[in-house]
Amino acid sequence: MSRVYHSSEPRRMYNGKMRTEAQIANRRATKREYKRRHPGKPQVNSMKKLRLAFIREYGGRCQCECGCQESTSECLTCDHIFNDGAQEFREWFGEGRRSTNRQMRRLKILGWPKGRHRVLCYNCNCGRQRTADKRCPKIKA
Ligand SMILES: [Zn+2]
Ligand SMILES: [Zn+2]
Repeated sequence: MSRVYHSSEPRRMYNGKMRTEAQIANRRATKREYKRRHPGKPQVNSMKKLRLAFIREYGGRCQCECGCQESTSECLTCDHIFNDGAQEFREWFGEGRRSTNRQMRRLKILGWPKGRHRVLCYNCNCGRQRTADKRCPKIKA
């Protein structure tokens, strides 16, 4: 007696895994169903996952020199260490649409390169845009 495995079934890459056509169709149907139930809603789950991956890859908490250490993911954001966010968008997407989601996807594709980006909380990130030397205003000189 030999069990029949479906090893001969052709598979292809879909959503990060090798899947059979049936599995792919299944996942597509699930997505369609979600869209139908939540019309107009962006794919929050994948965006959130991507953001969480970014935070995890870049230290998991606010990296600010002020010693903030904020780790609530909803309060964290991507900071451009050299304040070249606008330039990076131009390099990567030309005059295309600016979006953090696109930026995160590109970072992931590039293998989360370090040195140009870091995790900062909104307070530290926004605060440092408002100081003359672009340093976090919470840093005690
Ligand atoms: Zn902070
Ligand atoms: Zn700070």
